[in-house]
Amino acid sequence: MPSNETARWLHLIDGEPREAASGRTLDVADPSTGERFATLPRGDARDVDAAVDAARRACRGAWGRATATERGRVLMRWSALVAQHHEELAALECRDTGKPISQARADIGACARYFEYYAGAADKLHGETIPYAAGSTVMALRVPHGVTGHIIPWNYPAQIFGRSVGAALAAGNACVVKPAEDACLTPLRLAALALEAGLPPGALNLVCGLGAEAGAALAAHPGIDHISFTGSPQTGTAVAQAAAVNHVPVTLELGGKSPQLLFADADLDAALPVVVQAIVQNAGQTCAAGSRVLIERAIHEEVMERLAARFEALRCGPGRLDPDCGPLISRRQLERVGAMVEAACADGVRVAARARLMDEAASGGHYFPPLLLAQVPPAHDIAQQEVFGPVLAAFAFDGEDEAAALANGTPYGLTAGVWTRDGARQLRMAHRIEAGQVFVNNYGAGGGIELPFGGMKHSGHGREKAFEGLRGFTTIKTIAIRHG
Ligand code: NAD
Repeated sequence: MPSNETARWLHLIDGEPREAASGRTLDVADPSTGERFATLPRGDARDVDAAVDAARRACRGAWGRATATERGRVLMRWSALVAQHHEELAALECRDTGKPISQARADIGACARYFEYYAGAADKLHGETIPYAAGSTVMALRVPHGVTGHIIPWNYPAQIFGRSVGAALAAGNACVVKPAEDACLTPLRLAALALEAGLPPGALNLVCGLGAEAGAALAAHPGIDHISFTGSPQTGTAVAQAAAVNHVPVTLELGGKSPQLLFADADLDAALPVVVQAIVQNAGQTCAAGSRVLIERAIHEEVMERLAARFEALRCGPGRLDPDCGPLISRRQLERVGAMVEAACADGVRVAARARLMDEAASGGHYFPPLLLAQVPPAHDIAQQEVFGPVLAAFAFDGEDEAAALANGTPYGLTAGVWTRDGARQLRMAHRIEAGQVFVNNYGAGGGIELPFGGMKHSGHGREKAFEGLRGFTTIKTIAIRHG
């Protein structure tokens, strides 16, 4: 790992650190101060070509021949190394993304757990035999796709790298990763640890660079057999269109506008801290952030007062001081969030509460103290589109029908939370809400390594995490034998 203050990070291709073929670099800024502290190679199609070639050779070489048990053992050693380097990786994640250090620690722990989970699952992924004609035996084998492309975002670099690459390698693929230009240092460091764990060169390659250059080259590459993408809906469409030209399957995880529904009989002492945490976590830059709170009218006033008090008590500041909320990732993101909130306020949306900025927050940092919005018209952009900042929009409803209509009334369908003590209503609402995950009387933004995760509607398709994620990195090969 580079150690000086403007460290020069490199791609990892075929087991070797490499400069960009162009020799060009990108600056890496600290979101807490806005200052440059490292550089990345600005990769392009030439670097992607080299990485895909290396991955293909790995598929045909030692990695392709490794048994499922051997793959699992590599992942288990990798998990142990991540745990050993936990504090170093957490400090790096905190600096690179700006997230509070306790959140960064949790993310690194989750990454180690993904490798552990998929290490254990690698040799438990079975195919099937199929009853067919007399005198025949038919097998449906689960085989890896081959070379998998992974385009990952900046909000959870370590976690999303872990869930995607951990599953793909466990299933026997070789990977080419395009991490996000705004935050990709932990994936680079994690990849170096994979080599230490015994992963053969070429089985895992990372190409840094801009989305429009390295990312687009990977999405359009004819040598890729599958793409996993997490990020914005617009980029997801571009990636899927580019992959379609080569008939490459794509998994898309595209964010959401996830609702938390509070019924009048809910245990508010349990619900309210979770409602606040679900939008403040990672400064709201979470695909599954609980960005809407729907409140039954009978408790609307009380809940708004209690939420406002909680928002006003939050501290927003540099990640290293472990505040409730860190800075946003970039100036661009700060401007985007600010513009969306300004437009909403100009249209009559009321700010019900705002958190405070800590004195230690540097003026160059990208801080946006958490905000609670009231009187939000359900059709307004701020109620429909992903803000990707710590902005919670509140709505009132009467009864289950209106609650379901509001919950389902956006283009997205990623996650939802339902808070009620009525058991029958818990199930009715869980069935009615159009989302890939519904939590009842709890909420986990993105929740759980062991839980299938992914969207309905514009939130995307395909599932990551859990065993389902592992299956997604395989395809079926049918072998039909006529033996008489
Ligand atoms: P993005 O979707 O553009 O970037 C995600 C990844 O895709 C990055 O690695 C990027 O380099 C890559 N990429 C960008 N353009 C590409 C292209 N043409 N072809 C291939 N890869 C490409 O996200 P962003 O611009 O960094 O953020 C914009 C908005 O997207 C955010 O404000 C937020 O609303 C949303 N977002 C969502 C998630 C999520 O987890 N769902 C993550 C990041 C951003």
